[in-house]
Amino acid sequence: MRSTTGWQATDSSTLRRTPLQRRDLRTDDIAVRVDYCGVCHSDLHALRDYDTHSGAPLVPGHEFTGVVTGTGPGVTTFSIGDHVAVGNIVDSCGVCAMCGTGQENFCHSFPTLTYGGTDRQDGSTTLGGFSREYVVREAFAYPLPAGLDPAAAAPLLCAGITVWEPLRALAVGPGSRVAVAGLGGLGHLAVRLAVALGATTTVISRSRDKRADALRLGAHDLLDSTDPEQMATARDAFDVVIDTISAPHDLGPYLKLVAMDGTLSLLGYLGPVTVETTALLVGRKRLGSAGSGGRPATAEMLQFCADNGIAADIEVLPSAQVATALDRLRRNDVRYRFVLDMSDLDS
Ligand code: NAP
Ligand code: ZN
Repeated sequence: MRSTTGWQATDSSTLRRTPLQRRDLRTDDIAVRVDYCGVCHSDLHALRDYDTHSGAPLVPGHEFTGVVTGTGPGVTTFSIGDHVAVGNIVDSCGVCAMCGTGQENFCHSFPTLTYGGTDRQDGSTTLGGFSREYVVREAFAYPLPAGLDPAAAAPLLCAGITVWEPLRALAVGPGSRVAVAGLGGLGHLAVRLAVALGATTTVISRSRDKRADALRLGAHDLLDSTDPEQMATARDAFDVVIDTISAPHDLGPYLKLVAMDGTLSLLGYLGPVTVETTALLVGRKRLGSAGSGGRPATAEMLQFCADNGIAADIEVLPSAQVATALDRLRRNDVRYRFVLDMSDLDS
């Protein structure tokens, strides 16, 4: 086994610096020195739901960039020293219909998650990127395109790809009217990507003080979701509404904003929701969801970001300040993604 160090949960609110073990390199594995790992709201959910009695360790972190430090004997894509990026999926069955079409994120036997997943060969629990080293199959690591800053690119691997796939699947492009609900980690990248795809893009936020940021990101307007008058003016106004709100909420007001034959894509809060079907019936509206991305779309998204100068707005903290990052993220006090610098784990 390989020894490293990371931030492991001791309970549902505390991460402690802990020695960790990574597997020895299999034939198609690479070892990655993790340099930067983004802090996703899903990490907060995972911690909140962490059951200390389960016996399974929890090391969060599923959007990171780093440098290849070792290669298994069968690795063909990467060499030592290459800059790579890894997202929230690290393996899949490779043979089901979903994997066959490059949608490993929907693998019929469930993709192996970067943390809290079950390794397909040895059954161990996967430990995430809040650590100095990660070992991953080369197929689930992506070359970091030249021109992307490794720290600001890290959030592209979860927040970015999660909004990219639905934007592409819903054929967003010039002439599309897109709204993004919730201006956080996912939301701000959704705005940048939708704008770069050519859409007229509006932010829907309960935080009026984010207006200047919304416009700077390329949005055309910000609607205050707490103001019924403003929401009423936007009735049937958007072909696509990308909902990245992290808490349970009434979908009714957001469905009202969807144009005829348009789609509300629910990406943020994942869980049971109640929908009044007439809110879909009137205007033949669609409700959808998505999560993460397949390998082809992830590589495409990274190249698109490099070509269009897109990355996250980040605040970089030493990894020892992970508790501060999580606490401020919980309080909606980040513009717009914390990224942990893992180099402090060397000392
Ligand atoms: P984030 O940075 O905390 O952003 C969430 C935003 O939602 C906030 O900035 C806020 O925007 C809005 N919001 C939060 N609480 C709200 C409330 N009670 N009512 C209304 N609006 C609220 O989180 P994130 O990292 O972008 O993640 C967003 C959600 O996506 C999380 O639930 C996360 O678990 C989920 N997620 C899903 C996938 C997937 O595969 N589908 C992948 C990654 C993350 P305003 O201040 O603008 O209102
Ligand atoms: Zn995430």
